[in-house]
Amino acid sequence: MKLICDRMLGKLAVWLRIAGYDTLYIGDFECEDEDSELLKNFLDRILLTKDRELYQKAIKNKRAAFLIVSNDVAEQMKELKKIGVSFQLLMDRCSVCNSLLRKPSREEALEVMVKEGICEDISQKYELWYCEKCKKLYWMGSHWKNMVEFLKKLDQ
Ligand SMILES: [Zn+2]
Repeated sequence: MKLICDRMLGKLAVWLRIAGYDTLYIGDFECEDEDSELLKNFLDRILLTKDRELYQKAIKNKRAAFLIVSNDVAEQMKELKKIGVSFQLLMDRCSVCNSLLRKPSREEALEVMVKEGICEDISQKYELWYCEKCKKLYWMGSHWKNMVEFLKKLDQ
């Protein structure tokens, strides 16, 4: 399932990437008219939108689209669960840019750790993942635990 989110759904796009879904966010592109861009392009992706008018236009054009109702990201995620999206924590896609993650080389990891002031023991305690495009490291640390808690609440 490949997705694209409208301007209102930036947070949801991040969560979808964390859950491993190939998700674009229109706010990451420079375009003059986002609505017509969303209607004409990215046709291989399901359009997620909060805009009822845009949703109706998409459906009229026979484009796969889903209307998100809630303003709250947890509720939005519950809405998506109904169409079969499952929110598991996969360490496989960059939440910032949607690129696939890989293991960093020792040099790459060191470079980011020095630049960002990340403690060296992180690399001993945790398995590291790397986004080549953002030069960013990921690991299952405290931020990860918070995300696990957030997802647990979602299931309640
Ligand atoms: Zn990235």
